[in-house]
Amino acid sequence: MRLLLVEDDDALRAELREELAAAGFAVDETGNGADAEALGDTEPYDGVVLDLGLPGRDGLSVLRNWRERGNMVPVIVLTARDAWHEKVAGFRAGADDYLAKPFHAAELLARINAVLRRAQGQSPAQIRNGGLTLDEERQSVTTADGTTIPLTGLEFRLLRYFMIHRGRVLSKDRLAEHVYDRDYDQESNVIEVYVNRLRRKLGEGSIRTQRGQGYVFEGDA
Ligand code: CA
Repeated sequence: MRLLLVEDDDALRAELREELAAAGFAVDETGNGADAEALGDTEPYDGVVLDLGLPGRDGLSVLRNWRERGNMVPVIVLTARDAWHEKVAGFRAGADDYLAKPFHAAELLARINAVLRRAQGQSPAQIRNGGLTLDEERQSVTTADGTTIPLTGLEFRLLRYFMIHRGRVLSKDRLAEHVYDRDYDQESNVIEVYVNRLRRKLGEGSIRTQRGQGYVFEGDA
């Protein structure tokens, strides 16, 4: 899952970026509202954390502009403490949730996971699909026979995306867009390498190659 983090407080942004990356998200970041709006229009983010007070363009305008153009990316807005009007304005502009500053990174993570699962139509507890159960907190997967397998950060991100889109053909480009952040070399065959690593852990038949098109996640094989 790939997130856009928009916050002009450099120290807070660095801290949140670290926490989000540790939780297995690919993170792009900016402290400028106009840049955020452009990124949100061009990159396929799975979610956005959006501060409201920003240089360049304020967060509410960014959010309103996205929604007016039909961009329904899940957005959590960060509001000033006790600013109830900001919260109301945020929801009116199309926010999915809000968080008042100051907050603990763990709370932001919980909100993000809840908003993403709602957006994907998943139940709030765990991601289950194809005989597998993905544990977001421990970054591990449990197979149908009860074996728990630890995953590296990239394996986890890739498997999470596969599980949410089980049975669909996913191209390497699409997988790379949702699993990496902007700085990654998307030309490399890293997706292929990681697909093979997941196959070794979950069984050869878990991910089928659709020649010339990409991969299809089948589940526990
Ligand atoms: Ca701010």
